[in-house]
Amino acid sequence: MAETKLRIGALYPDQMNIYADRGNIAVLSNRCKWRNIEVSVTSVGIGEALDSEQFNLIYLGGGQDEDQRRCAADLIENKRAGLVAAAENGSVVVGVCGGYQLFGHWYELGEERIAGVGLLDVETTRSNGPRLIGNVAIATALPGCPDGALLAGFENHGGRTRLLEGAQPLGSVVSGHGNDGSSGNEGCRAGNVIGTYLHGPLLPANSWFADWLIAAALRAGDGLPQLDDDLEERAHVAACRAAGVKPD
Ligand code: GLN
Repeated sequence: MAETKLRIGALYPDQMNIYADRGNIAVLSNRCKWRNIEVSVTSVGIGEALDSEQFNLIYLGGGQDEDQRRCAADLIENKRAGLVAAAENGSVVVGVCGGYQLFGHWYELGEERIAGVGLLDVETTRSNGPRLIGNVAIATALPGCPDGALLAGFENHGGRTRLLEGAQPLGSVVSGHGNDGSSGNEGCRAGNVIGTYLHGPLLPANSWFADWLIAAALRAGDGLPQLDDDLEERAHVAACRAAGVKPD
């Protein structure tokens, strides 16, 4: 492993944490501890600058429009430069739902346009149509993972996200709505920067993906030592079945 410690930066854990998205941090942290890999979790809140060197994994969870508004200006002012530099250095940056939207260029609600940090080439518009809610499963194509490996979770968003030309989705929708309910795309990935609408929280139901993120953050090209994932497998199977999809 090129790096021996997972250094997690959790952005706005007080505001951006719907569906207990902090469970994702607990999974990352515990899967390191169980392997005797050192791990630290540091919250970075409103008004605090983000040092690009401090973390090798940066996480931003989901939030209501109102909470997103509160964090968005701060994200631009105090954290954008650090985020961009961290992404350029190959750090892992993960945004879920509201966090995903803020990693794009903007989130537009009627006349109002909330600027995002532009880490991902996506744009989001709040629709007057129904919220996109329900269980969801997507087939991914991630380096080092079997093609079509499934991520399963739960989505609930009013925003519709559009990938700009050349942007790559995180996966294709097998069941559920995904980015906009019609494109068949879910999420976006640009190297180690990942955005997705999947709550659940995402990682307890998809421990293989937690390991993919940890390995990427640690530059662990040979992967990570195996864990006894009996319980995690069952959570994955249950989440896939809830989305009406046969588990892989
Ligand atoms: N407020 C955003 C929307 O409804 C994001 C919601 C979320 O994070 N679940 O589109």
